[in-house]
Parts: sequence; C-alpha cells; structure tokens
Amino acid sequence: MVIVMIHGAEEEQINAVITRVEGAGLQAHVSRGMEQTVIGVIGDKRNYPEVLGLEVMPGVEKIVPILQPFKLASRTFKKENSLVQAGKLVIGGDTIHVMAGPCAVESREQLLETARQVKEAGASILRGGAFKPRTSPYSFQGLEEKGLKLLAEAREATGLHIVTEVMDTRAVEVVKEYTDIIQVGTRNMQNFVLLKEVSNVDKPVLLKRGLSATIEEWLMAAEYIMAGGNHNVIMCERGIRSFETYTRNTLDLCAIPVVKHLSHLPVIADPSHGIGKWRFVPAMARAAIAAGADGLLIEVHTSPETAWCDGPQSLNPVKFSAMMDDLRKIAKVMGKNL
Ligand code: PEP
Ligand code: MN
Repeated sequence: MVIVMIHGAEEEQINAVITRVEGAGLQAHVSRGMEQTVIGVIGDKRNYPEVLGLEVMPGVEKIVPILQPFKLASRTFKKENSLVQAGKLVIGGDTIHVMAGPCAVESREQLLETARQVKEAGASILRGGAFKPRTSPYSFQGLEEKGLKLLAEAREATGLHIVTEVMDTRAVEVVKEYTDIIQVGTRNMQNFVLLKEVSNVDKPVLLKRGLSATIEEWLMAAEYIMAGGNHNVIMCERGIRSFETYTRNTLDLCAIPVVKHLSHLPVIADPSHGIGKWRFVPAMARAAIAAGADGLLIEVHTSPETAWCDGPQSLNPVKFSAMMDDLRKIAKVMGKNL
C-alpha cells in the first residue's frame, strides 16, 4: 500500500507514520515528490492488520492499495518519472544517454581508442565487460579486475562514465569500486541473491531483462533491488527469445512504453544484443528512442571483425558516429537532447 500524506505534511507527522509502520515489522519507503510525500509500505503481508487505522493518523490523506505485485517499482508508488543519478549524469530526464563500447574489455589500446571515439561521437557512458557471461566455458571469460582498472583508466582519460557487469555476489565489492553503474545481465535477472547484494550498494543498477522474462517478472526483479533500499534502477530491454532465428533475439519495443506506463523507472534499450546484427542496430536504436527510451546501450568495437566477443553485432566507430547523427534528429522530435 501507499500512504499519501497531505500537501505540506509536517516532518513530525511523516515520522510518526514511519514509526508506526516499522513498529509493525514492515518497511517504509519514503518518496518526496514536488507536491506530496508518499510512503510505500512493504513487507510480510501477515503484518498488515497491525497497521490498520493508519488513515486516521494526523497528516495522512489516504491509503492507496498497490494492486500489482511490484510495489516500489510501480507508478502507484511514484507518479513522476524517477531520475537516476549516475555520477554526474541523470538518467530518465530530458537527455538521452548513450552507453557505448565493446562487449568485452580486451586491451588498453582497444578500450582507450574505443572510449575516445565513442566520446567524440557523443556517448556519455563507456560500456565494457570485465566479467563475461559466456555460453561456452571455453570462450573468453573477461579480464576481471585488470579489465576494471582499464575501464577506470579510460574514464580518467576521457571523462566518460562507466557501466560494467557483475555476475557474482563475490565480485560486487570490487566492481562497485570502479564503476558508476552496475550492470546485472540478462542471465542473472532472476539471480535473487545477486539482486539482494546490489540492493545494498550505493550505485545505480542497470537491470537487463531476462531473455525469457515477462515484463512482470522483470519488474519483480527491480522490486528486489528497490526493496533492499536501492531505488536507483535503470531497466534495459535487450531482446527476448522468440521463434525467430534470423535475428539473435527479438528486441521487444513494446516493453518500452509498457514499462514506462507501469513503472516510474527509466528504461533504456540495447539493440545490439536485441537484434544481434550490426546492420540493423541503427534502425532499432532509432525506433527505441521514438518509442520513448531514456537511453541506449550500443556495442562498438574499433575492429568488429577481430572482436573477442559479439563482433557481428558491434558497430565500428564510423558507423556509430553516423548513427548518432540520426539519433539526434529523432531525439529532437521526442523533445529530448542527445
Ligand atoms: C553485455 O551487455 O555484453 C551482455 C552480456 O548482455 P546481456 O546480459 O544482455 O546478454
Ligand atoms: Mn555483448
């Protein structure tokens, strides 16, 4: 349920409600909007009778039940779009942020050169995997901490922010030291132990949609992170499994307006993994922005033909730059900057 406080509710009244909720063994998540403060109540449903009568407490306007299973992630909890602060950047506002870079960090030269080129083309965030979730155990698994150090060096050299994946609870500590945004990949969307771990971290989480996850399951994964106290979640549609085999996955563009309707969280799209062929990535990137995406994740490699991972879906810097020019036009139509 959501407790909606009256306009101008006093701090004391808000605190009294929180104390009552917490005293009943439930959690109170406060969201201070421009107009009103609302308090999301979550926790074991068996404790709900303990907070009966809340609506008569001073400063309380009304109690609104949240009908969806995802609570803190829902629009009922928060009407306004969430703005996720990632370092100096704000995701979910008027600026579309493009996160670009190689699938995997391979070497200093590769990463620094890619970083320089994507920055020049207008990206604000550098992506690159140091821990790679590969289908085959014989494929390159990532440079691990050495890769994280190279990402930090690239940030230092270019001023780009960093997003990189964490696959394992044991690596959260080290990854969070180096990155601005922690990525939870498609294969780990329902790794609940990992979701709980990143819910304790003071860094935004980019949550990729599971490759066979429904929108509701995806929002429930976001709920895990938020319930643990980290409300800075960025949803990333990266394509789902379908009967189609020509493309690597099916980028579910429907999910962009649907999630933005159901939730206040920012939504970005990853057309690179979504379609899996570089030739079609720009068209899907344009479509994602037209559908209302708050950002994009794009794989870029200085030499896609020799990439250690995901070369066929990677744009080279020249093609990336041309795509960015087109995206600026679509962003403008959508009333956004890029
Ligand atoms: C990636 O971003 O390189 C990646 C492995 O993505 P996904 O989890 O969407 O497959
Ligand atoms: Mn990849």
